[in-house]
Amino acid sequence: MSEKVYPVSRAARAQALIDKDKYEKWYEESIEDPDKFWGKHGKRIDWYKPYTKVKNTSFKGKVSIKWFEDGLTNVSYNCIDRHLKTHGERTAIIWEGDNPYIDKKITYNQLYDQVCRLANVLKKHGVKKGDRVTIYMPMIPEAAYAMLACARIGAVHSVVFGGFSPEALAGRIVDCQSCFVITCDEGVRGGKPVPLKENTDKAIHIAARQYATVKNVLVVRRTGGKIEWAPGRDLWYHQEIASVKSHCEPVKMKAEDPLFILYTSGSTGKPKGVLHTTGGYLVYAAMTHEYVFDYHDGDIYWCTADVGWVTGHSYIVYGPLANCATSLMFEGVPNFPDQGRFWEVIDKHKVNIFYTAPTAIRSLMGAGDEYVERSSRSSLRLLGTVGEPINPEAWEWYYRVVGDSRCPVIDTWWQTETGGHMITPLPGATDLKPGSATVPFFGVKPELVDNEGNVLEGPADGNLCIADSWPGQMRSVYGDHERFVQTYFSTYKGKYFTGDGCRRDEDGYYWITGRVDDVLNVSGHRLGTAEVESALVSHDFVSEAAVVGYPHSVKGQGIYCYVTLMSGHEGDDALRQELIKHVRSEIGPIATPDKIQFAPGLPKTRSGKIMRRILRKIAEDDFGALGDISTLADPGVVDDLIANRQNKA
Ligand code: ATP
Ligand code: MG
Repeated sequence: MSEKVYPVSRAARAQALIDKDKYEKWYEESIEDPDKFWGKHGKRIDWYKPYTKVKNTSFKGKVSIKWFEDGLTNVSYNCIDRHLKTHGERTAIIWEGDNPYIDKKITYNQLYDQVCRLANVLKKHGVKKGDRVTIYMPMIPEAAYAMLACARIGAVHSVVFGGFSPEALAGRIVDCQSCFVITCDEGVRGGKPVPLKENTDKAIHIAARQYATVKNVLVVRRTGGKIEWAPGRDLWYHQEIASVKSHCEPVKMKAEDPLFILYTSGSTGKPKGVLHTTGGYLVYAAMTHEYVFDYHDGDIYWCTADVGWVTGHSYIVYGPLANCATSLMFEGVPNFPDQGRFWEVIDKHKVNIFYTAPTAIRSLMGAGDEYVERSSRSSLRLLGTVGEPINPEAWEWYYRVVGDSRCPVIDTWWQTETGGHMITPLPGATDLKPGSATVPFFGVKPELVDNEGNVLEGPADGNLCIADSWPGQMRSVYGDHERFVQTYFSTYKGKYFTGDGCRRDEDGYYWITGRVDDVLNVSGHRLGTAEVESALVSHDFVSEAAVVGYPHSVKGQGIYCYVTLMSGHEGDDALRQELIKHVRSEIGPIATPDKIQFAPGLPKTRSGKIMRRILRKIAEDDFGALGDISTLADPGVVDDLIANRQNKA
């Protein structure tokens, strides 16, 4: 891995909310005395009734996690109402359409009006506190209104990514027994319509076989495209909100009342219905948003995630709005009309803070620098990344080309389950190392353990656990607390197990090496797939790589690499040999690839993560049983991968 260090820049230090001393002092206090620390920081949100208890958590036995339990608050109130007196006319949401000529700005006053109306519509149709509402929407402001309207009346939302199929939507409706669905006639992505209403109709049909009880579907008109209509069940959004009052009293919620359910992206198997609650989640999302992005009043902030993922929940909607930020919401895709779209939008809206995923960074890097260099990006101050390990090569490109060597790259490691950032640099406090998520956030106590559960000290390589609770932690798997305990707390007793492998270096920096299931064991040596991938991507011709193990008669496991080349390069035997040599010189002979397959595309989930489970099967020449591939963004790539496999029997 890269050994380069980028010290905190003078510019970052000059304006930073948290500097080195403060980080150390606060971190120590957060670990020594969580009650005191969080007792203080819990007050960053408004409470109807202040809490007197702060932390009441146990990772043992039945596992119970409660924060601020006797406090009363409301998330929608905190994200809207409390800002109105001083900042009602501030832009809450900048919406940038798929079409580059369409955008709009929504002020906090307008947000209040829209959310109250929608909350009243939900109430009018019988949605009550505790009921589940499924939100299946494209990236339009109504998606955020819908989440906040649910929060306002205490309904529990389950946002399902708009790219999911009717079957996937049905499964999620049934799992949490939703009574109400909010959707849209059609979404638009990259100039093409997405048939959301049609998918919803199909999903409800499928769900009905399993006794689900969707009473109403509220439909936003986005394109005006032709759709089927079920009278009595289907409701037009614009008609409904026109006929209700523009004020709706927020419900006083207990801190531990559920806020939302969100299904994990399914990289490793059947998605889990991750349950987050009200008070602790909001405190944690807002606090991480402020300090990790060093958010200052008036900053324009853009997170490119979809609201269908947790990143969209915590860092497009809840965290930024709780901090009265201006949050940009983008309907489109990075390569439409062309690969320069992100950089154009940054200039157009003068974005200061930009947060995206390694998969996007790598693909835009593959497109060539000229797309970036067309834009000025002079407004940018900070760059963030999330979702996968970012290989140093992509990190450096992001830093140098996108950020003009001026903006810190903040690599945030966290999970749907953690609610907010866990291991991450703070721009004014943490020296950066490309490829490392660096150090824990306040209140986070990472531990590396070996396979027997022994805690490893100092520099080490092991399974990443978190030793104690933090306020943003998930509380349960919806409807299946036993699965929650089994999945996260049974592998290493008394600890939350993340499922990720990790290395801690001599400076105490954390390097996520990938999922534990993906760690290779080559002739008795443990090797992170991320490490081999990084080495491959550091070759000039390679834009993306995915590495898996396969049974090898001599070494135990062989190293099988899928490699996507930069545009304009052809994969042949000479390049294969060159790549093998390159990896050997980057990591060492132990990492010598056994097989290299050139692949025009890799199988990715809808959130852009590589599904290694499928690649493993193909590498093992066992592609008859690939399992569920319905959450793949483009199932078509699988055929090519099978046809060109390198381990044909
Ligand atoms: P599932 O749990 O259903 O398999 P998933 O783990 O992909 O899906 P998410 O919660 O969206 O669902 O992703 C969290 C995971 O993403 C982390 O456990 C880690 O493996 C990876 N990840 C996220 N951010 C980073 C990062 N900055 N560096 C390295 N890995 C990251
Ligand atoms: Mg996971």
